[in-house]
Amino acid sequence: MQRRDFLKLSAATGTVSCVTACGSKSNDEPVPTIPEVAEVETLSACEANCAATCAFKVISRDGVLNRIEQEDFYEDGFDIRQHRPCAKGMSAAQKIYAPERIKNPLKRVGPRGYKDSYVEISWEQAFDEIAEKLSAVYENYGPKAVMRGTGTNHGGSHSIFWVDNLLCAAGGCITPFSAMSFSQVERIMGYVFGKFRHERDFSSVVEIQNSDFILSFGFNPLEVNASGSGLGFEYNHVVEGKPMVVFDPRYTDSCLGREQEFHFVRPGTDAALIEGMAYHLIENNLINESYLREKCYGFFAEEEMISPHDNNRILPAVTEEESYRGHILGLKDGVAKNPAWAAKISGVPESVIKSTAEQLAAAKNPYVVAGWGVQRQLTGEDNARSVTTLALLVGAVGNRGNSTGELPDSKGYMFSLPPLVPNPITCSVNYHAWPRLVREGETMSVIKDNVVLDPADLDESGDGVIGQNLKALFVRGGNPFNQAGDTHKIRELLSDPAEVELIVTIDTHLTPSMYVNDYILPDSTMYERDDFASTNMNNGAMGFLIATQGIEPVGNVKSTFEICLEIAKRMGIDDVYSSGCSNDEESLEATYNFTRMIRPDLHSYMPETWAEMKEKQMIKWAHPVEDSDESARWHVGYWDYVQYGTEPLETPTGKIDIYSHSLREFAEISEIPDYWPKDSGGYINAIPKFMVGPESYLDSNEALDDFPLQLCGYHTKAHVHTQYQSTWLKEAMSPAAWVNPTDAAARGISSGDMIEIESPRGKTQVEAKVTPRVMQGVVGLGQGLRFNPENGTCTGGNSNALTSHDYNSPIEKGTGVANCRINIRKV
Ligand code: SF4
Repeated sequence: MQRRDFLKLSAATGTVSCVTACGSKSNDEPVPTIPEVAEVETLSACEANCAATCAFKVISRDGVLNRIEQEDFYEDGFDIRQHRPCAKGMSAAQKIYAPERIKNPLKRVGPRGYKDSYVEISWEQAFDEIAEKLSAVYENYGPKAVMRGTGTNHGGSHSIFWVDNLLCAAGGCITPFSAMSFSQVERIMGYVFGKFRHERDFSSVVEIQNSDFILSFGFNPLEVNASGSGLGFEYNHVVEGKPMVVFDPRYTDSCLGREQEFHFVRPGTDAALIEGMAYHLIENNLINESYLREKCYGFFAEEEMISPHDNNRILPAVTEEESYRGHILGLKDGVAKNPAWAAKISGVPESVIKSTAEQLAAAKNPYVVAGWGVQRQLTGEDNARSVTTLALLVGAVGNRGNSTGELPDSKGYMFSLPPLVPNPITCSVNYHAWPRLVREGETMSVIKDNVVLDPADLDESGDGVIGQNLKALFVRGGNPFNQAGDTHKIRELLSDPAEVELIVTIDTHLTPSMYVNDYILPDSTMYERDDFASTNMNNGAMGFLIATQGIEPVGNVKSTFEICLEIAKRMGIDDVYSSGCSNDEESLEATYNFTRMIRPDLHSYMPETWAEMKEKQMIKWAHPVEDSDESARWHVGYWDYVQYGTEPLETPTGKIDIYSHSLREFAEISEIPDYWPKDSGGYINAIPKFMVGPESYLDSNEALDDFPLQLCGYHTKAHVHTQYQSTWLKEAMSPAAWVNPTDAAARGISSGDMIEIESPRGKTQVEAKVTPRVMQGVVGLGQGLRFNPENGTCTGGNSNALTSHDYNSPIEKGTGVANCRINIRKV
């Protein structure tokens, strides 16, 4: 077997003797020989959505995946490196051949919500019926009744965007914006720095090499992106020997002695902790006053001004009481946000708050960083903004060794699909909001629900409604049902075909999301097809690779491009859908060519033609940390603004907005929902503030008296969302809720006991792990465990059986899937 030059036969080509039973054959008989089936080596990558996309070798024998091995393209070094897949990636063979692989198209013939409601059908039947039903939804309700479901990519350029293309060619659809993982921080940083979403700037983790102090709020790359190639690899190298103080409700693997100090902090109270540090910095004159006056806006009182971007926009004065400094000193509300105040809320000792503030101020190049858990909460926007503000107080954004207070992220060396079919409608909702479209789509609005509509559909106050409930949901991967808040309720919402008439999912494995589907279509994996993928989603090392089919497909699977093409043909829209591609190979070539065309900066790495790229298989390049403007511009967020300041930022003031006039104006037109605690301390705020969110530690709602503990959801190293749960990692690290010994003793719980975790919405059962690595009063539960409802209780340990999707963050309307109030008991 031979596949291009890359493939090689790694086994000896001779023969081996057949094993014979002792003495059972005459020595005179010729010994039969069986030709050994040679191993075949192909290049592919891990499909898990942990954002690293580690490349690796697929070693197969006779079309069957045998094992995964580290790739060895290029010399191994720090900047350009050979990828070392983590334990998840190394167990890909078990994932590929797991019992949950979908091998044939499935159609629902029983009620929604049950595993045994499905029968296998032919592809022809699936294509015909889906095309007919999808056409009927368009005809009866219009495009705002159709949504491309939330879901992330698995694999390379055979992606969810082809589903978008199908639905846009068919008349349009509601598309989700942002992502379940980071929507609150993505939104709020736009108000601080003026660039929203993917356009905002980041610092890279390798910039820590230039730092002399790391202050971390829940940054945990070694469990989330454990790879030997991406963020985890870089973090592990660059933090060595650096002073690091870590705050987290859990003692994670990203610590394990790398840190100088570790302190527990109550989930959702990082903003209070930071306000306590801010007070100490102000009181002891440890702030960087010239930086705050020159680069930032609103730490001090401000005069009325005209926006540098709009002569007609007058920005009113900010009084001393309204400024961030005034808020911290308690000039308006009479509450000084001093370390003693912060200690009571956060659980961090007053002395630690003071000493951390002093260490931060004493550092020359501090790197202040937060994990995404800090913002995946109902007060997540102000939590994330508070971390950035802390860095700003000491002038630690925009210099060598600094971060932006955010998670380090990629500057976007993703492949780009060829120009897709434009969506004929403008109607978009936050990633978290899709379950509400089922019954509230008619009334969901721009101001109340963060819906994006065509300006022509808005009234004079800038508001408007979708005006249509959801009738068809088309999903590709992502397991949206399992991963959204309140799985018990979503199951009920989607159970009636009279409400959502058509639900279709394309995926590789059966997930809990499948059992409300009408059709389930088996997707191929990146090991069963050719593909073009980006690797190493971080800022230091980059790459593109060609994945080559290395194994025989498991079952009757097809690529997403092909599935959507066949449906499009039956709807008579294949000409529009295909964007000029008639098969998988052409779609990959078009993607490569388009990516190269729009990235002239990559021309020195990317061969001119697709054929040459296929020949090369993999390209890697790096951005080493060097003492140059170019390197600083790459690795340090907002370098040019802070160092040269030649151009104003795109905020209303042109500066880094600690005080945001846009948010002040937004607050004026927003209504505070009933579920928001009356004594919260804020909702939408011009300055970042600690607030008491719904079901947070300090929520005094009497209905929560029976739920004294806090859930702390996190990304476990044992699986990526629901992926890799059927592998040997289950034996190495069985699913378990982390319970502090004091909380466990009070309830008679020991490690290994099955416990029931209950919130105001539902129950989930999982094994207990009693450990001092979680804060007292907090229960840690890895997100992504499978929702498995039995008599109203999830027996799979799913954390979203506890969380809510009806409660939303004030600005982005994201959900707080990282925590809520709970109680636990031994089953
Ligand atoms: S780090 Fe992520 S992409 Fe890499 S092998 Fe592990 S799970 Fe896969």
